[in-house]
Parts: sequence; C-alpha cells; structure tokens
Amino acid sequence: MSMNLVTLLYLVASICFIQALKGLSHPTTSRRGNFFGMLGMAIAILTTVGLIYKLGAELATAGIGYVIVGLLVGGSAGSIMAKRVEMTKMPELVAFMHSMIGLAAVFIAIAAVLEPQSMGIVLHISDPIPTGNRLELFLGAAIGAITFSGSVIAFGKLSGKYKFRLFQGAPVQFAGQHKLNLILGLATIALGLIFTFTGHYSAFTLMLALAFIMGVLIIIPIGGADMPVVVSMLNSYSGWAAAGIGFSLNNSMLIIAGSLVGSSGAILSYIMCKAMNRSFFNVILGGFGGAADAGPATGSSEQRPVKSGSADDATFLLSNADSVIIVPGYGLAVARAQHALKELTEKLVHNGVTVKYAIHPVAGRMPGHMNVLLAEAEVPYDQVFEMDDINAEFGQADVVLVLGANDVVNPSAKTDPKSPIAGMPILEAYKAKTIIVNKRSMASGYAGLDNELFYLDKTMMVFGDAKKVIEDMVKAVE
Ligand code: NDP
Repeated sequence: MSMNLVTLLYLVASICFIQALKGLSHPTTSRRGNFFGMLGMAIAILTTVGLIYKLGAELATAGIGYVIVGLLVGGSAGSIMAKRVEMTKMPELVAFMHSMIGLAAVFIAIAAVLEPQSMGIVLHISDPIPTGNRLELFLGAAIGAITFSGSVIAFGKLSGKYKFRLFQGAPVQFAGQHKLNLILGLATIALGLIFTFTGHYSAFTLMLALAFIMGVLIIIPIGGADMPVVVSMLNSYSGWAAAGIGFSLNNSMLIIAGSLVGSSGAILSYIMCKAMNRSFFNVILGGFGGAADAGPATGSSEQRPVKSGSADDATFLLSNADSVIIVPGYGLAVARAQHALKELTEKLVHNGVTVKYAIHPVAGRMPGHMNVLLAEAEVPYDQVFEMDDINAEFGQADVVLVLGANDVVNPSAKTDPKSPIAGMPILEAYKAKTIIVNKRSMASGYAGLDNELFYLDKTMMVFGDAKKVIEDMVKAVE
C-alpha cells in the first residue's frame, strides 16, 4: 500500500467523519450520520491495518497478528456491550469508553517513550527522542491520564450503583481544593516540560502520576445537575488525548479524528454550559454542583401533603383541555413508555387537543436523550419543541403533563438563590393552569432536591410507573 493511497484513504475517512457529525446534529439525518461514522471508521481501520502490514513487512516484524487479535477482542467486547446496554445506561457506557481512550493514549505514550524506534519516532534504539516529539508525548499522556481517571469517577457518579464516596452523585468538596488543583496542575506542566527538555524518565513518570490524581480531583467536586457538562467535557478531553498521540505517531487520521472529537466535545460542553447558565471555567475548575446547600439527599424528601389522583382523573383533565404540553424526563426513559405516550398523544390530537412536547437540554441522562427517545417512537418532529421555543407558552397551556421529569421543572432554580441548581434555566411548567406530574414516589431527581412544583395547589400527582400510568390513560381516553 503506497503512502499516497494511505493519505487519500485517510482523507476519505475524515470527510466521512465530518459528514457523520453533520448528520448527527439533527434527528432526521442522524441515521445517515451514523452510517457515515461507521463507514469512515471502517476505512480508517482497514487503512491502518494495511499500513501496519506494509511497515511490518519492511521492518520484518510480526505486529499484524497482535493487531488482528486486538481488533477481534476489542470489537467483540464493544459490540456485545453496545447490544446489551439499556438506553438509560448509555452515559455510563460513554464514560467507560472515554476512560478506555484515555488509557490507550497513556499506554501508547509509555510505549513510545520506552521504545521510540518501534513507533518510527527515531531510527535507532540509541537515538534520543526529538524535543518536539517529547512535548507531544507529554501532552498526549497527561490529557490521556486525566481523561482516564476523570472518566472512571464520572462512570461511578452516573451509574449511582456504588457506595464508594467518590462515586456518589453529590459533589465532594474540601477546603483548599482549588489551590490544590492549581498546584497539581502547575507541577504537572513543570514535570512535563522537564521531560520535554531533558528526556528524564522520572519526570515523565511523576507527571503521569500527578495527571491521574488531577483527573480524580477535577471531577469529584462536580455533581448533581452539572454532570452533563462533565460527560461532554471528558468527551472533548478524549479527543485531544487521541490527537496528541496522533502527532507522536505521525498518524494524520488520529490527529484529524481526535481534533474533531476534541473540538465538537468542547462546543457541546459550551452549549451545555449555556443551557445550564453555568460558566464553562467554573465547571472545569470544579465545585459548581453545589455542596453546602445541596438540599435533601436523593430519595429523602420531607413529608408534606400533596394532591394526588388516578390515571383516569388525569385523562379527564387532558381530554377537556384545548392545549397540553408534555414534559418528558429521565423516568419516561426508565419506564420505556415512549410508545405508549405516542399512542396517548395521537388519541388526544384526534380528539381535538393541541399537544406539544417540551424538551429540556439536560433532561434524561445524556445530551439529546429525550429527542432520541421520542424519535424512537416516531413522534412527529413538528410536535417537539426546545426549551427556548416553548417556555413562553406554558402560561397559556391548560395542562402540563410532567412524565418522569423532576430537576428540569424545579422552580427552585429560579426562586432559591442558595439552591445548587440556582440560575439553571428550567421548563416553566409551574406557570400552566393545571399540572399533572407522574412519578413513582416523592423521591428526588438526579440533583437530589425537593421540588416545590409537586406541592402547588394546581398540581396533581399521579403515582406509578410511567408506562403503566400512560397505558391506563390510553384506555381511559378510549
Ligand atoms: P430527574 O433525574 O430530575 O428525575 C427523574 C424522575 O423520574 C425521578 O424523580 C423519578 O422519581 C422518576 N422516575 C424514575 N423512574 C420512573 C418510572 N419508571 N416511572 C415514572 N417516573 C420515574 O430527571 P430530569 O430528566 O428531570 O433531569 C435530568 C437530571 O439528570 C438533571 O439534573 C441533569 O442535570 C442530570 N443529568 C443529565 C445528563 C444529560 O446529559 N442529560 C447527564 C447526567 C446527569 P421516582 O423515583 O419517584 O419515580
């Protein structure tokens, strides 16, 4: 395989990746985007295997066998995990994948530092690694290590399954945290530069150890409703780690793909920060998730009276309304109630009710979660509205139906400056004439907060699993 052909194929793969990002920016084109992503990755992998084969033959090494075994083992594990994962567990899987990218970058950097000639960085084993390559290795390894340990913490926080304190959703903060992060950050850079200019292994090793610790320290103070930003931020880091290693290996595909992931992740983080009304730097520097006034812990809401009703009562209200806004949330995804919901909506529309869906940018557990959920049920896109486009309509809505959503409709974001979610824009469901909330109990949402919306006079709680409740509503409409 000639180098010209390799370059050409890498260029084709890069164009596919750009088309993939473009396609994934809207639900109607997302299938096409996915197709381009898979095509680009297939071209990139096959070209790289061909390249390794060519280099292997030239250098008389037997590396290709290991590559094929790696591809088979990694590819099978990836497909099994992707097939088995439930939609609600996607963010953890994504965090896990990010951690693997970070770790891969670290391993490649260590291998390149120890055996630079086998990576084509130097010609002979005794040649020193050029300064420029050492800088690239330092950056790739440091960002990779931060991505790895940060993603492991994010994985624990998102799964909510582990008792370990650092894996709890609530932020972990301590006195002098920012100063410690700053000192560690400066020390990491200093050690990286020592390695760059002197080539000392010990500086590289120490730098790597500090970067692993920094990954943990950056993520632990972020919690509650700020986790979406963490997910997209780690996505961005994993891209930059790959790009850094791409420079060391002189692999243009890795540089381009890494930069695409890095920059699109950074843009997504910025969009999420804007949606959450957060400062990008405050989130990155940690501790925005609120600690002192974090409110009651998950599931420990105080006992206050609420009005509750049955699915039949809710259906009566919905059927007599002219306009209904539906707010889907994480609970709807857990219950897998999107198909039943579409059926309910069709029946209401058939009966002359105007129905719109209101999507909060961080509803669910991953960016775009609710859009994907509704698209899966083939809900017409013209019924689906983003927060900024629909917030002005809540005041005129006869009924708002909140299904498995909690934090995204919590008025304390607007009314309580001490709330950990203070300043976060919410769907203004509290302005509607009547509010119906479906959830299983009075338990709190991801941010661990009580929700005043549930206690309003005009709110009716309908307790139960979303799928069961919506199916009962469908029967009642009939
Ligand atoms: P929340 O987590 O605030 O609330 C979900 C509610 O769903 C819970 O209160 C729960 O109450 C209810 N629920 C759970 N299972 C069911 C069920 N089977 N049937 C009916 N209800 C159910 O979700 P929101 O979507 O409102 O907000 C998302 C939160 O997640 C935000 O804080 C966001 O910052 C955070 N987050 C978002 C990410 C993203 O990228 N979108 C990533 C990480 C975190 P009960 O147990 O009583 O049923």
